[in-house]
This record gives sequence, C-alpha cells and structure tokens, in this order.
Amino acid sequence: MSGSDKAGRRERILRAAVQQGLLEPETAVLAGFVDLDGVRETVTSLHSAFPARLRVLHAFAAKANCLVPVLEELRLNGMGCEVASAGEFAQALEAGFEPAHIVFDSPAKTRAELARALSLGVAVNADSFQELARLDEILATRSSGSRIGVRINPQVGGGSISAMSTATATSKFGIPLEDEGNRRRLLQAYRDRPWLTWVHTHVGSQGCPLPLIARGIAKAVEFAEEVNAHLGRRQVTGIDIGGGLPVNFDSDETTPGFDTYVDHLREHAPALFSGAYEIVTEFGRSVLAKNGFTAAYVEYTKTVGGRPIAITHAGAQVATRTVFAPDAWPLRIEAHDPHGRAKHGRPVPQDIAGPCCFAGDLLARDRALPLLDVGDLVVVPDTGAYYFSTPFHYNSLPEPAVHGARVDADGRVTFRLLRPAQDAHPAPALAGR
Ligand SMILES: *Cc1c(COP(=O)(O)O)cnc(C)c1O
Repeated sequence: MSGSDKAGRRERILRAAVQQGLLEPETAVLAGFVDLDGVRETVTSLHSAFPARLRVLHAFAAKANCLVPVLEELRLNGMGCEVASAGEFAQALEAGFEPAHIVFDSPAKTRAELARALSLGVAVNADSFQELARLDEILATRSSGSRIGVRINPQVGGGSISAMSTATATSKFGIPLEDEGNRRRLLQAYRDRPWLTWVHTHVGSQGCPLPLIARGIAKAVEFAEEVNAHLGRRQVTGIDIGGGLPVNFDSDETTPGFDTYVDHLREHAPALFSGAYEIVTEFGRSVLAKNGFTAAYVEYTKTVGGRPIAITHAGAQVATRTVFAPDAWPLRIEAHDPHGRAKHGRPVPQDIAGPCCFAGDLLARDRALPLLDVGDLVVVPDTGAYYFSTPFHYNSLPEPAVHGARVDADGRVTFRLLRPAQDAHPAPALAGR
C-alpha cells in the first residue's frame, strides 16, 4: 500500500471511530487503533521475504504489542511468539500459541520460569553460562522437548540509539563472543551438552543500520558453523536471528522492508540460506508500529511566551519514549477537526502537550501544523508498537481503549475491542464510612 493510501485509511478509521462513539470529547478522549488489515499485509510481506524452501518461524516479539487479541491475530496469520517475562509468557499461552512456537528470551529467567518453559516444550535461549548451569540442573531430573540455544553477543557495536543497541562490547545481553576465553568455553559448552542445538543473537533495535545487524547475524552463523566443525557433527541445527528491523517514523513509506533486510542477510550470511539451518526471527516494531495510531482530543489551547500550545490527552502515559527521549524517538503528528477530517490550514509552529503534570510532557515541540483548536483531534501515526500497548501509569492516568479496525471493500469500517479502557474514575469504596 502506498503512503497516501495509508494516510487515507487512517482518516477513514478516525472518522468512523468518531461516528461510532469510540472517540468522544467527554467519555473517550484518547484511544489506540490497530489496522488489522495492515497487520495481515505486513505479516504476508515478512513471510514472502524469506525463501519458501527454508524452515522459518517468525516469532513476534510480544513486548512490542502484548495485547492478547493482537497476539491471537498474529498467530492466526501464521506467526510464533517471542516472550521475555512471565507476563508475556502467560499472554502468549492465552493467545493460543503452541508451546513449540513460543521462544523464551530474557536475561533474568528464574529457575521456576526455566522449569516451566522446559516442561511445556517452549524454546529457550540461555543468556549466560550461569543460566546454562541452571538448565543442567533441571535437565538432570527430567527430559524436555524444548529446543535450547545460547544467545551470543557478536560485539559488532551499536547503532544511533544506545539504549536499543544490544551488541556493543559491554551489552548486558548474551555471552560476549570476543571476550577472552569465551569462544573456547562456548565450544566446550556445546560439546558437553548435546541438547544445545541452537544459536541465538539479537543485534539491536531501532537505530541499528541493516549492515550492522547483518554483520552480527553473520557472526552468529559463523559461530554455528564453527561449533559443528569443532564437534564433527551437525549439532547446531537452528539459528535464531532476532528482530530489530528499524522503522521509518518520518513518513508513511515502509522502508526498509523485510525484503531489503533479507538482501543484506544474503550478502553477509549466505550460509543462513543453505538450507542446513532452521531459522527463527523475532521482529516486533517492524510488524506493528506502522499499523497503529493514537488519537486524542485537544482539551485546551493557550499561547505562552508567544508560542501556541495544544493541551491534548496523549502524553507520556502512551508515548513514554518520545516524551523522555524526544531526539531518539520523534513522532509525526496530524491535525484533524472534531469529526476526524484532516485540517488543511496554514502551518503554525506549536507545541503538542500531554496531560501529565510535568513540564516536559510534550509529544512535539515547535511543530508546524494547522493551528489546533479546542475539540480538535490529534493523530499520532506509527504508534502500533511500544506506545499505547505499553502504557506508563504516571498521574494514575488510565490505560486507553485500543480498537482493532478493518476496512471492507466498500470502505466500511468495523471495529473490534482489543483492550477496554481502564476505568478512569473507580467509585470510591464509601460503604462503612
Ligand atoms: C526487543 C527484542 C526483539 C524485538 O525487537 P524489535 O526492534 O521490536 O524488532 C527481538 N528479540 C529480542 C531478544 C528482543 O529483546
């Protein structure tokens, strides 16, 4: 779908949401929307980017959008699920994923969490030598159908957002491949554990250039080949290449696409395509970000020190990263009238503020937009991953409703509730006072 189609579809969904009362100036001042048709198209593009002859499981990184109906939708579109906490683990099971299609990654797995994953047959990637020792203890008492790997840190360096870079020399994730003695210790770990049959890496997320990600994955593939050569048998049968395809937050173009990502992999890690390995991927942001948007009413406007400010209902509680790290996480903002129609007035630089009680609660500063009025709607595109799905409970602001939208051939929009709004005003317990 082209960029202008995406903007048109967003406006259509917004107008239908106003008409159907899902956005309402008193009772529903903020909501998240997921374009479920868009999600299906994105997942299809992911599946078709990899050659059909390879065995690939695309495990969606649940932290990017952990709403159970969203996970369910992804399962129905043929994905697996990557989880990194007991909470995400429970959500993946609730969404109906088969244990064999769930991958458990976390640097802090407890003994109980590991034992549960192994008893269910969920795939596990060990993050450290200490975690491998815990797996030894569990597997000494029972067998398991889980496929088990080690997360290696290829130490290829970071991207433009250090908080998102997991393959730096000193990252907290995985076993650093280049640290003194580690390669030898790792080879021994595989020799001692015939059940260790996978290699995992996740080089980083937003801000990591594709060649960097591809180089990290290439090192994981080379390491798998080294293990098999060293042991004289094909013990490593699978490679989990992580996620991290960056998303373009500047426009409605989906660049880079999964096909470009695969082109880089072919160039840097051709052995991945030999057919000798099963593959797991763990994309999150690139599956959901561009298929979701946030909409909020403008409650007030003011001019301060000469600058117009629109006070909206969307702030740090739904756009936490953008508010606290605005340079790393800029978002587009669109101005719409109370019916949801795009406003086309002369652009005026203005601040778009949220409702939270701290001065930095701004979605955008000095942003040129048609002047916003009380009762207008602001739309924040590209927020389908890591935004409204992961709210921050500052000021006791309630979690907004999230609606899934589908647009039929006649342009009719139907909605499905993906998460109810949290009750903003729980009735005080007056009984007994
Ligand atoms: C966060 C994470 C992902 C997903 O990253 P995206 O940038 O959302 O694709 C995948 N794997 C692991 C281990 C992660 O921590």
